Amino acid sequence: MSTQAPSPAVRPELIRLAATATDKTDAIRQAGQLLVAAGCVGPGYEDSMIAREGVANTFLGAGVAIPHGLGEDKGLVRRDGIAVLQFVEGIEWNPGQIAHLVVGIAASSDSHIAILRRLTRLIQDEARLRQLATTDDPSLILAALQDDATDQNRARLPAEDLDERVTWTVDYPTGLHARPAAAWSEAAKALPIALRVRHGSETADPRSLVALLQLGLKAGDRITISASGPGARGALESFHAAITRLSTREKAEAARAAQKAAAAVPVQGWKPVGTPAMIAGVAASPGLAIGTVHILASAELDVVDHPVDLATGGALLEGALVRTRAQMQGLIDDTTRRLGAGDAAIFKAQASLLDDTDLITLTCQLMVEGHGVAWAWHQAIERMAGQLSALGNPVLAARSADLRDIGRRVLAQIDPGLGLGTLDDLPDAPCILVAADLAPSDTAALDTNRVAGIATALGGPTSHSAILARTLGLPSVVAAGADLLSQAAGTVAIVDGDTGRVWLDPSEADLASARDWIAAIAARRAAEEAERSRPAVTRDGHGVAIAANVNRPDQVADALAQGGEGVGLMRTEFLFLERGDSPSEDEQYAVYRAMIDALDGRPLIVRTLDIGGDKQVPHLHLPKEENPFLGVRGARLLLRRPDLLEPQLRALYRAAKDGGDLSIMFPMITSVAELLTLRERCEAVRVSLDAPVVPIGIMIEVPAAAVQAHALAKHADFFSVGTNDLTQYALAIDRQNPELASEADSMHPAVLRLIAMTVEGARRHDRWVGVCGGLAGDPFGAALLTGLGVTELSMTPRDLPAVKARLRSSELPALQALAARALTMESAADVRALDIAPVAEMRERSAA
Ligand code: PEP
Ligand code: MG
Repeated sequence: MSTQAPSPAVRPELIRLAATATDKTDAIRQAGQLLVAAGCVGPGYEDSMIAREGVANTFLGAGVAIPHGLGEDKGLVRRDGIAVLQFVEGIEWNPGQIAHLVVGIAASSDSHIAILRRLTRLIQDEARLRQLATTDDPSLILAALQDDATDQNRARLPAEDLDERVTWTVDYPTGLHARPAAAWSEAAKALPIALRVRHGSETADPRSLVALLQLGLKAGDRITISASGPGARGALESFHAAITRLSTREKAEAARAAQKAAAAVPVQGWKPVGTPAMIAGVAASPGLAIGTVHILASAELDVVDHPVDLATGGALLEGALVRTRAQMQGLIDDTTRRLGAGDAAIFKAQASLLDDTDLITLTCQLMVEGHGVAWAWHQAIERMAGQLSALGNPVLAARSADLRDIGRRVLAQIDPGLGLGTLDDLPDAPCILVAADLAPSDTAALDTNRVAGIATALGGPTSHSAILARTLGLPSVVAAGADLLSQAAGTVAIVDGDTGRVWLDPSEADLASARDWIAAIAARRAAEEAERSRPAVTRDGHGVAIAANVNRPDQVADALAQGGEGVGLMRTEFLFLERGDSPSEDEQYAVYRAMIDALDGRPLIVRTLDIGGDKQVPHLHLPKEENPFLGVRGARLLLRRPDLLEPQLRALYRAAKDGGDLSIMFPMITSVAELLTLRERCEAVRVSLDAPVVPIGIMIEVPAAAVQAHALAKHADFFSVGTNDLTQYALAIDRQNPELASEADSMHPAVLRLIAMTVEGARRHDRWVGVCGGLAGDPFGAALLTGLGVTELSMTPRDLPAVKARLRSSELPALQALAARALTMESAADVRALDIAPVAEMRERSAA
């Protein structure tokens, strides 16, 4: 551990508040004169500073300029010093660039970089900069430039504690991995004091996610957390409380993971006949794959160093970060919708790396040293990822892949020529792709016709790559160690993604047995798919309507091909979200008509706009709400905005007039009054168009609606339960909160009870109940819902075959008994435990 670099010479006499200057040159000259007067530089340094402006732009950004002398005039520097001139009104540095703080630097190279690192960090703190630009207290400027707490480069923090301290033993079973580390970082950022975490001689500023991860904390590690500054004790206690609060969740998650792992122990998986060589790793994506090993050369990116001036580089970097953030937000939203908040949490953790101050600072530091922005960013990523990988902790190793992946996304934004690479040199025959690690974007781009399975030396089962492999149906093993990479290309291997093993050079008998097992898996899938057009009728003849959640007419054909019998949820807000303006009545009419036509007589349930919550439509300029999920969302907005409701209803009734099986459904209904008003509006529009009566249903996604289902059922033609929101509101867990994602389980008995109440309420008025939230697409969830009395299930098209197969293999009384049992359970985990894994069936199939 290195000791701290000497603090640059920032002294009160070198700070001039409320300075005035005729122009930039005058400002630089004044800064130079201050440095001369303080004895930091010899006379003539001002001229050198002015000359430097002719060869480089010293505007750092965010109202800060850093004039300094030419390299060849370093000899004029007698001792380190920085002079700060505050221009409250600002002074034009370059056209359009106004400097409020002019920081004249006289320093040797090392100190220069230290100063710039502080400044680049300060530049990210807009509020503080605004304060410094107008303050009449020089000590604030002094503190900002001397504040070692702002210098979060871990390597420069001393292995000493700050004034107040507490010790704590890490009790997170999987150590401090990205998710709790992100929570620590958030908690630290919210506290206005300097905090430090020390493990042995290693220290980190907890505001930096990467610095925390680099500590490589494991369960049992004893750490000291210290703080200094006013209110240090209280802040320390609140930080300590925040991190200990996470213990329960971390333990619960580890227990659940262990439970899952136990459920997938080798007894349930494939076993070779003989004893081929084996490399053990961690199971990451289920299934068995056979192929010849194809070793992926490490995708070293050749990033050429093209230096640019700091201002251009800073703007390029900032723009790239902003665009990548937006790209990640899109990915988060998309994944939340398709796979749920749990899967999206991985992207959230990845996106939070974009705000990591160490990364930004290191990049700026390299840029300030004279390197190009792409090169500097790439280097910063590589250095930090390398440090994470070197810790030998599989969880952190997975994070280094995330870091590299997000790094490549940013690189692609800085220079599209450095875009995400492809894997197009794969052999034609399906191979076992072996790599040190795979970036999520590599995995996403894999051609599944050419890759049968994946094995990586590094990585973790929770990495985004692993999740994508599961989505792609590619068996995958991660964290198999370096031995994996020394295998000869072309070696035959079997990847077992259930047991986490890679079998090498298997015998013919082993291969035959593995092929049988693969065939059994395929047979089960094929059986599900072959039967996907058959109705979901239980063995004893109880039919469940199966529909798809589809938003666009061009998606209907695939939904029908997967076995959908109609569309149970068309989320119309996407018509507004995917474009920069609101579609007109005519445009909406055309889309609804195209949906009806594509369905060719099958039912279509169109949900009116569900704007609000996480679905914000910028061009509507709606007021910002403190708690948008609890605000003017869905039907509440429609009731307040006839300009949104009327055109949509008109478009819908016009579409209905031209034929088809259309129903209208309102989201986020909480009260009978809302429903009655909306029905009135529907009726007025219908009458004005002389359109036919269409069923009007409501989403049940607010607990109040479930509890009052009996009252609502009097006025609604049908219900469709939105389990995503019902879970969020019943459990009081923001569906976007990664911290709580694992607890937001729709199988929670409380949610199931609300669904049972909904069914009961609907029955009283002879209404049908469907479910269009995520629970409907889970085969076990579908079984439970059917047992609860739900008669329509609508889901993403890819979930259709398995759900239908599960229902066809069931009997209604058994499902009812299952549902009744589930209602008596204490937790979602207990409910899930009622599912009997279909491995026994696999064994039977394989043996057959
Ligand atoms: C739900 O809440 O379950 C639902 C289907 O609606 P959305 O996911 O669009 O909020
Ligand atoms: Mg909803």
